[in-house]
Amino acid sequence: MAAPLVSVADALAAMRSAVGPLAPRRVPLSEALGAVLTEPLRADADSPPHRKAMMDGYAVVGADLVDGEGEFTILEEVTAGLTPTRPVKAGFATRVMTGAPVPDGANAVVMIERAGEIGGAASSRVRLRDPAFRPGQHIMQQGEVWRAGETVLAENVPIGPAQIALAAEAGYDALLVRPIPRVAVLATGNELVPPGTLLTPGKIRNSNGPLMVAMVRQAGCSVVDLGIARDDAAALREAIALGLSSADVLVLSGGVSAGVLDLAPAALAACGVEQVLHRVRIKPGQPLWFGVRRGENEQPVFGLPGNPVSTFVCFQVFVRPLLEQLGAPRTLPKLVSAELTADFRHKGDRPTYFPAVLEPAKSNGGPRQVRTVSWRGSSDLRGLAQANALAVFSAGDRQFSAGEEVEVLPLDRFY
Ligand code: AMP
Ligand code: MG
Repeated sequence: MAAPLVSVADALAAMRSAVGPLAPRRVPLSEALGAVLTEPLRADADSPPHRKAMMDGYAVVGADLVDGEGEFTILEEVTAGLTPTRPVKAGFATRVMTGAPVPDGANAVVMIERAGEIGGAASSRVRLRDPAFRPGQHIMQQGEVWRAGETVLAENVPIGPAQIALAAEAGYDALLVRPIPRVAVLATGNELVPPGTLLTPGKIRNSNGPLMVAMVRQAGCSVVDLGIARDDAAALREAIALGLSSADVLVLSGGVSAGVLDLAPAALAACGVEQVLHRVRIKPGQPLWFGVRRGENEQPVFGLPGNPVSTFVCFQVFVRPLLEQLGAPRTLPKLVSAELTADFRHKGDRPTYFPAVLEPAKSNGGPRQVRTVSWRGSSDLRGLAQANALAVFSAGDRQFSAGEEVEVLPLDRFY
């Protein structure tokens, strides 16, 4: 006897309560994008760490310029990364490039564009003429932006490129974050050959592998692609163990139905994954399997039914919300209601998530419009590829009429 079917809402609730948020971990700056910082960042040095030139030019004693003009003997040249060796005194100037430390004694920089040669390019004399000259110009004081020891970023902020750059400047090469989930994906089936391979009798291409990789990326998570495993207990156990050791979440497709080679639930159990539920009242996607491997973090494991549109729908309806709970940076569009533009005959005792096209309201303030696409069921990717939404038809045999409102799950098809 097969287990009774669980409703979509009950299945989601069971999944949500089975796993907590991921524990904070330290990740290199290159992996921090999109994560949430869980420690305040303190700078280890002043910013800027030295008084610095903001222009290419000449560092001088301001009082030396009369009406913005004067002639100087060049002491030395300091480019960014070097340090001055001599203080600047009256009558002298040091050539400084943007970012270089300004020598002691100098209190202004005159831009290189305001300098005229005296006696040829190799001369050690220069004439400066800057009608708008003011003491202090083109110099940034040490510690003007922050002082060593100051908090430069509070905890609980999401990390974007600017925050990563700030952390790098403040002395960090890794950050303690609520991490972005790492998701391992595995396609299972003896019939599968990789995309790009010629078909031989009985074989089909692995479309779920690339599908799951793309859906993980669309959620903003990082992906570990485990490729294809054969319908063989030992091969499955090996691939599952690899997934559990290399990721926070494991999503596999195929092998969770009632066929003779549907070996995934037993292989998962052998790898220490406890079943939470199996079989959900949803079409497509009824054979869905979900379990958890207990440990420091609970690791959720999804066994998605092998038909590609079942895999797609189950990912969208179940995997995405759980990834969000774990810290996925991209959030799913919310359910909306829309008006059917044509009659639709629904059959069956499961709610159907039917590929559809959602369009904006025809008039201001009017209802959104939705129409189903031509779709031949759970293996029809061509129908799915025309959809930008899934229309949800409640369970039962009945006619939905044009003009009736139904719930629609918009798909974020593109980045
Ligand atoms: P299963 O869930 O393993 O019983 O597979 C159900 C159906 O989905 C079968 O027709 C499989 O050939 C097909 N299928 C399983 N895995 C994949 C995959 N990775 N790519 C495309 N089709 C698949
Ligand atoms: Mg199979």
